[in-house]
Amino acid sequence: MNMDNIFDVNLLAREKVRKLIPYMSARRLGGNGDVWLNANEYPLAPDFQFTEQTLNRYPDCQPVSVIHHYAAYAGLQPEQVLACRGADESIELLIRVFCEPGQDAVLFCPPTYGMYSVSAEAFGVEQKKIATQENWQLDIKEIENNLDRVKLIYICSPNNPTGNPINPASLRKILELTTNRAIVAIDEAYIEFCPENSIASWLKNYPNLVILRTLSKAFALAGLRCGFTLASVDIIALLLKVIAPYPLSTPVAHIAAQALTAEGIAIMKKRVIEIKENRDYLQQALNKLAIVEKICPSETNYILVKFYDAETVFRTLWHKGIILRDQRKQPGLDGCLRITIGTRKECEQVVEAISALSTKNKQPKEIES
Ligand SMILES: *Cc1c(COP(=O)(O)O)cnc(C)c1O
Repeated sequence: MNMDNIFDVNLLAREKVRKLIPYMSARRLGGNGDVWLNANEYPLAPDFQFTEQTLNRYPDCQPVSVIHHYAAYAGLQPEQVLACRGADESIELLIRVFCEPGQDAVLFCPPTYGMYSVSAEAFGVEQKKIATQENWQLDIKEIENNLDRVKLIYICSPNNPTGNPINPASLRKILELTTNRAIVAIDEAYIEFCPENSIASWLKNYPNLVILRTLSKAFALAGLRCGFTLASVDIIALLLKVIAPYPLSTPVAHIAAQALTAEGIAIMKKRVIEIKENRDYLQQALNKLAIVEKICPSETNYILVKFYDAETVFRTLWHKGIILRDQRKQPGLDGCLRITIGTRKECEQVVEAISALSTKNKQPKEIES
């Protein structure tokens, strides 16, 4: 007899997990393409060698060379840096350290990155969603009015998927409103594309500030799964209490250390310049097309574009093997698709495919928010 027929394991699972809608990562959404512009990855594979023959041993929990390199890169002390399995793990560790399920709340500002909600949901922590203003900046007044029970605030800057950095004055205001009562985590996953917007140097002034970083975007290492949490020594010590004993495998640590050498950082900076050139090209070319309603200015490796007929654009390109990210379900993002900046050739393919759907050219107008 097949026991599966009578035993429903779902009845054993926590109710929160039974009801959980998992994060629909680009990989899970699938698609059958050769032009992948839906996950903000770099389109070409960087070249790394792995020669270490020590896989019989457990790795260090916090590999010294990786931590030292990243601290130097971020202008901080090694004690202020935690290495983890991507920025996504940091998002979750913060909830596990600071939020009691059924009691504390997290706050974030849609439209924004989806994992803040998924991690809070999985741990049964209340979510306060305070929509951004029309210019995608924070609604400080509403945030201030909704701080009850809030232990943790996630702010993505520059924001995914809108592409704009958050005003430093707003970040300062939030940090001051939450002094002694909540952690403010600034997600700087895309900060290499606009390093002047980093607030890592504020860590010395705000003990409740945490900064999330990753090697997945400008460092072109999404497949490596390596990110960093920057914070006070005390916060790092708390996060170390709940992190897995060996969060970075030996190959990951070795490749991350190479990516963070002076040479690795120089290559990253060259890559950023090239992506920005392709972004300018793509923005200007799309701005001439009648089907394009609006292009949000971007300080990242993607652009958010509002189309008069987003459904047709998304579907037609999908069938041509050009996979974009549909953002239409997010609040305020009607008609919006997010396009990762690929190679110049990939940008040209996008323009060509969308041009074919635009009946006429229009007068180019200012790129506005
Ligand atoms: C991609 C991304 C992450 C996740 O980074 P990983 O290091 O790959 O886990 C976190 N936050 C934002 C805003 C992102 O876009």
